[in-house]
Amino acid sequence: MKIDTDNLTVASAMRHLRAGDFSARELTEAYLKNIEERDRDIHAYLEIFDDAIEFARAADVKIKKGEAGVLAGIPMAVKDNMLVEGKYATAASKILKNYRSTYDATAVKKIKDAGAVMLGRTNMDEFAMGSSTESSAYGITRNPRDESRVPGGSSGGSAAAVSMGGVLAALGSDTGGSIRQPASFCGVVGLKPTYGSVSRHGLIAMASSLDQIGPLAKTVEDAELVFNVIKGFDRYDSTSFPEDMYHAKNAQVAAGKHTIGIPADFLSVGGIDAQVLESFNRSVGALKDAGNEIREIALPHAKHALAAYYIIMPAEVSANLARFDGVRYGLYNSGADLATDYASTRARGFGDEVRRRILLGTYVLSSGYYDSYYGTANIVRDMVASDFRDAFKIVDVIAVPTAPTFAFKIGEKNNNPLQMYLEDIFTVPANIAGIPAISIPSGSIEINTKLIPIGMQFMAPHLREDILFAIGKDVEAVRS
Ligand code: GLN
Repeated sequence: MKIDTDNLTVASAMRHLRAGDFSARELTEAYLKNIEERDRDIHAYLEIFDDAIEFARAADVKIKKGEAGVLAGIPMAVKDNMLVEGKYATAASKILKNYRSTYDATAVKKIKDAGAVMLGRTNMDEFAMGSSTESSAYGITRNPRDESRVPGGSSGGSAAAVSMGGVLAALGSDTGGSIRQPASFCGVVGLKPTYGSVSRHGLIAMASSLDQIGPLAKTVEDAELVFNVIKGFDRYDSTSFPEDMYHAKNAQVAAGKHTIGIPADFLSVGGIDAQVLESFNRSVGALKDAGNEIREIALPHAKHALAAYYIIMPAEVSANLARFDGVRYGLYNSGADLATDYASTRARGFGDEVRRRILLGTYVLSSGYYDSYYGTANIVRDMVASDFRDAFKIVDVIAVPTAPTFAFKIGEKNNNPLQMYLEDIFTVPANIAGIPAISIPSGSIEINTKLIPIGMQFMAPHLREDILFAIGKDVEAVRS
């Protein structure tokens, strides 16, 4: 059977592999060929693993024996901030240029154990700080839908890899929107799971109280399949919670149609592109016509989540990145004494955005400022979480645009950090509250004969990814 990667999904590839229509090896070769043809222009990948075919061969043996795991033979890619044993992991930073992982991140181990073919590692903003993948120390990634535009970020390489047909699904990480915003820009599905549902063991930490690993894929069904493989308790991550908590929650699944909350107050913050808003309203209308109930709700503090995020996140960044001192990991620059070693290694190893955040973080944590910045931001964090608790008493899910804009031009915001930070306005609240959120392709606009994708975001109560998948499938149904 001829492999048509344009129309293949994780779910359909699984069926074909099990039916013997093609082998994991043939499937892997088809994706490697796509990468060879397209990635020269896109640069979604930082590295293609030279043993990808070995993974495929092993999967073929298992499939033949009937011992295949859930993802057996499925080509997958991982963002360059997740450890894959024996491979480089740089977080797209010069400071980790030659760093090799000594073990697998738990999420990586889980997809490997399920039989996934590890194709390679994908580009990202340095240490996951950014919304465009332009802050990578190893070159930019282009948006496969329009190469003059960014793919979003920071998981821009993962989103672009899926979007260009360079892999079937990928893992990304999301601290303030880094899975959902690139998914929206590249026309794919991206899930940020509930904080604590996927282990962060082996994820190079950005802001530990916000970071979460999740899938990027072409369909909601595929994202769900991958999520079910990577979630679960891990004794190496004390913030991960036991599997049975899901069963307790999912037992209460609301049958049938959903009540969708629209936070009118939050949507009136300004700065939303008119076409994005129009597309969002059209999608909400279609969901209503399909039998869902639409209810206006209030999230009075959500508009302050961004300000709180840009205090809490850099504070945690400054602590987490202190370990990159030239002694323990990666780059080492020798100076006159130890203090100079540290300073010169860090000055050479970190890019501008990373340095900006470390400086901000140490400032907001410094004595005399701690209470007024970090303390206040944490109070705002509680208020945002409490807004969500109130809202979820009356609605099943909350819908907002994923990002205020569609994919912008390369270079357009790169020298304007504030503009870049505003990209995160609609994604950050879910991280601040720890709730799950998904971005689904919901429309597109035509610019110069190119169809630029627009995504729509849904947020659900803690552990209720099931609702996000159900509503996501509704969106896919009304879209086509
Ligand atoms: N764009 C956001 C930031 O720059 C989100 C990053 C992320 O989720 N890793 O902080």
